[in-house]
Amino acid sequence: MFTLRAAIMWTVNDFPAYAMVSGGSTKGYMACPICTEDVTSGWHAGKVCYFGHRRWLPWDHEWREKDKGFDGNTERRLRPREWSSDEILEQLNRLDFAPFGKTVSRTRPSTHLNWTHKPMFFELPYWSKLKLRHNLDVMHVEKNVFDTLVGTILDIKGKTKDTIKARLDLENGHTKGFMDE
Ligand SMILES: [Zn+2]
Repeated sequence: MFTLRAAIMWTVNDFPAYAMVSGGSTKGYMACPICTEDVTSGWHAGKVCYFGHRRWLPWDHEWREKDKGFDGNTERRLRPREWSSDEILEQLNRLDFAPFGKTVSRTRPSTHLNWTHKPMFFELPYWSKLKLRHNLDVMHVEKNVFDTLVGTILDIKGKTKDTIKARLDLENGHTKGFMDE
């Protein structure tokens, strides 16, 4: 006889499930779970895209200066603030969410940023002390990145991302400056 003890260390899931386990929506302009409210996003090639991740590079990284290699802009912004699990719990506790499972389709107030609910994992006494709460499953991520890369490099019809529409969007982005905040 012995007492078995168990602890949840973190979750491993694909991106759609990330919304369920983290309490933050993975749709819309604020859906980057790392940049959160400080995200740079825009409409590109028929999808919401998340740009500006050169901000996370070291301050003197050469890619920050490479305007033509990217979207025509150099990147001079500092990296977004990183929130600790404790700070996220504090944010969630201040918000008022509709009861779970209720299909009240009300628009999220802007104070809620991209939060949809407080995940039950926060009931665990140690959850807000974790550095890493959620992982993305490489099986899903790698397949999508691989399909996109190979589809584009081999110029496979219907699979390539290098379409006339994408190029026109890039051109529009340049003139409108979608990197501006
Ligand atoms: Zn981001």
